[in-house]
Amino acid sequence: MPWIVVLLPGLAVAGLLGWLGSRWRQKKRLQKIRALPFPEPWRDILRKNLPVYRKLSPSLRDKLEQDIKWFLADKYFDGRDGLEITDEVRLTIAGQACLLLLGRKNHRCYPKLERVVVYPDAYVATATESAGDAAIKRPQVRLGESWQDGAVVLSWRHVLAGARRPHDGENVVLHEFAHRLDQLSGRADGAPPLDAPGQYQQWASVMSREFSSLRHRLKLRRSAWLNAYGATNPAEFFAVLTEYFFEKPHALKHHHPELFAIMKSYYGIDPGKDLKPTGEKERVTKEG
Ligand SMILES: [Zn+2]
Repeated sequence: MPWIVVLLPGLAVAGLLGWLGSRWRQKKRLQKIRALPFPEPWRDILRKNLPVYRKLSPSLRDKLEQDIKWFLADKYFDGRDGLEITDEVRLTIAGQACLLLLGRKNHRCYPKLERVVVYPDAYVATATESAGDAAIKRPQVRLGESWQDGAVVLSWRHVLAGARRPHDGENVVLHEFAHRLDQLSGRADGAPPLDAPGQYQQWASVMSREFSSLRHRLKLRRSAWLNAYGATNPAEFFAVLTEYFFEKPHALKHHHPELFAIMKSYYGIDPGKDLKPTGEKERVTKEG
């Protein structure tokens, strides 16, 4: 018998045992983190910076706090250009990122995310554009981005502004972490992994129709309900739609009930009912 035939089953068993061992260690670590109390100073930060936190039901608040503890234990924060990574920076980012997980069943806390890089303000990155066969590099001002290789980059000033204004439909953390969910299926393409195979057809049908409709309205120079940046490509459409779903749920439901229903099914909550922030009220405006 060739030695490779003998070796392969052994390697497969060793690989399986290694995988089971790492899952077991992760489960134990998660149990330990879950048992830790949520520090009261952390709650003070969330009350101050996240208006939605103050209005969560006790069960949703507990869920959010559990996810935040896991996020903070598992992800490394990297301050740039002199920004100090304080508990306020960590809690304000983790709190918003974990809002997207509140209603998701059997989710893991952004498993491919290793680092959160934070700049004090908007930062300059190098954008690559293709022009024929050539690739052109040019500087571009950014507020945030999600890299395929395990990092999210954010501007702290815009993180804070987005957290404190929960009804304007602009939130860089919700946007970039929606890309993170999208990237769980590989490259961000506007189609994150869904819970059941039967959901993909409806997702593709509704999202592609609404995406085309938005692009068409903008082409005709008519006003649109969604930020025009959502018309860039399907990945940006999903990320911008996520911002609107969490921050302008009534407007989204009013203008585009099918889109609202599909987002509600994906995120597992109704932000119009489950997240009732105080402060400014959401306005439902007419689409022209
Ligand atoms: Zn984006």
